[in-house]
Amino acid sequence: VIAEVARPMEPRFVLIGYSLAGMELTPAIATILGMNALTNCVNLEICDGAVTVTRPVFDSTMHAQVALDGNDSAVIALQKGSFKAIEASTKQAAIESVSVDVAAIPARSKVLAISDEPAGDVDITKAEIVVSVGRGIGTEEKISIIADLAEALGGVLACSRPVVDVGWLPRERQVGASGRTVTPKVYVACGISGAIQHLTGMRDSHRIIAINKDPNAPIFGVAHIGVVGDLFEIVPALTKAAKEARAARD
Ligand SMILES: Cc1cc2nc3c(=O)[nH]c(=O)nc-3n(C[C@H](O)[C@H](O)[C@H](O)COP(=O)(O)OP(=O)(O)OC[C@H]3O[C@@H](n4cnc5c(N)ncnc54)[C@H](O)[C@@H]3O)c2cc1C
Repeated sequence: VIAEVARPMEPRFVLIGYSLAGMELTPAIATILGMNALTNCVNLEICDGAVTVTRPVFDSTMHAQVALDGNDSAVIALQKGSFKAIEASTKQAAIESVSVDVAAIPARSKVLAISDEPAGDVDITKAEIVVSVGRGIGTEEKISIIADLAEALGGVLACSRPVVDVGWLPRERQVGASGRTVTPKVYVACGISGAIQHLTGMRDSHRIIAINKDPNAPIFGVAHIGVVGDLFEIVPALTKAAKEARAARD
């Protein structure tokens, strides 16, 4: 439908969100319209008519800038949260109603069922303190170090996606674009690099504390407090301090 609506306009660009649907639609629309497909983009720059997009590569450890040739056209799928929200404009956009004969477009797939995600034992979106563990933890057994800090602070344990993908924690603990969005009073990121897909799910937290041994980790770009160092030294020390503070208070 999108391709049929776009075709008569002969667009140079079709912008689409890099959601689950966007992942499927981008190459399909591009193929139908004979355009380039650029997925998973985190930035788009237009300078003197030249268009460059930025895409994470090698599991988000690097970014590639892709420049479009001359007047090449493209369907560009942008990651959620890539751009800051702009002030609402007073300008009125022209809205054009287009009728499409959907029945005439052959459907090659159909939805058989939609099932709800099973409810987990904890709702990380409701917690005031979230302590999150990333791939920097190294092994499953060591997650207890981060869980101890979460408990000492009276918070809940959450994680980045790789921790879920390897099966160390359940999906309902995942923060990010394909997980939950959290806005706690305090978010502690331990061994998390700060890929855009993770930041999307936690960047609006009131206080962000990041612990990472890499001073150039992108997580420090959103952190209010950044600790550059080994989490295996810092987290146990924080847990001890939190327990002592609690004991003194009680
Ligand atoms: C469509 C799509 C959706 C995605 N959705 C999500 C999502 O919802 N949530 C999400 O999190 N990701 C998501 N991702 C994955 C995302 O791109 C990153 O790969 C992921 O966030 C990286 O997780 P990480 O920071 O734990 O691991 P890494 O990027 O590997 O970072 C590990 C960090 O640990 C640090 N570290 C290592 N050892 C130590 C130590 N001893 N002490 C301190 N620091 C240490 C390293 O310096 C590094 O910065 C998605 C990707 C795609 C393509």
